[in-house]
Amino acid sequence: MAKTERVGVYPGTFDPTTNGHMDIIRRGARVLDRLVIGVAVNAGKGPLFSLDERVEMVRDEVAALDDPNIGAIEVKSFDSLLVHFAEAEKAGCILRGLRAVTDFDYEFQMAGMNARLNPDIEILFLMASENHQFIASRLVKEIAALGGDISSFVSEAVAQRVNERLGRPDLQAVNE
Ligand code: ADP
Repeated sequence: MAKTERVGVYPGTFDPTTNGHMDIIRRGARVLDRLVIGVAVNAGKGPLFSLDERVEMVRDEVAALDDPNIGAIEVKSFDSLLVHFAEAEKAGCILRGLRAVTDFDYEFQMAGMNARLNPDIEILFLMASENHQFIASRLVKEIAALGGDISSFVSEAVAQRVNERLGRPDLQAVNE
């Protein structure tokens, strides 16, 4: 019998994509045959980047991944219930990243609710790597808006997009 393809979805807002997200994507893609990154519309969070921009940003970051041991990665947007998105992608699991204790409460609740909605879909948590533990999209935006250097939290390409969006041409020059 043919081995069943291991498919997972990794949902998030990715506003912007950080090194922490990319670490979870790379590690997740190492244990899955196909990883579908679901960029959530999440208008409620008032994102800095439009949905199309965030999809493009994640796609560019994924294209730059250089790891021979990773499975296929796709990037899609979704505006439905997460479990419905996972079902449509025939995913057996939902991948999430966990930073310290602050993420736990929210993730614990989300995992419980999603398990009720579809008990066949496992929620898979990967601990944030030590050097990415403190990276959060929200803080990246706050630091950039106040003129701080975000180059150790995001890729060069993302830093440029964020600084451009926040009108920090002085920092773009520094990054070039
Ligand atoms: P959401 O709106 O779902 O919180 P995010 O884009 O902020 O979307 O995060 C998507 C997922 O990535 C979440 O599971 C989050 O915990 C995880 N994540 C975010 N930043 C990091 C990081 N630095 N290290 C590990 N996981 C992270």
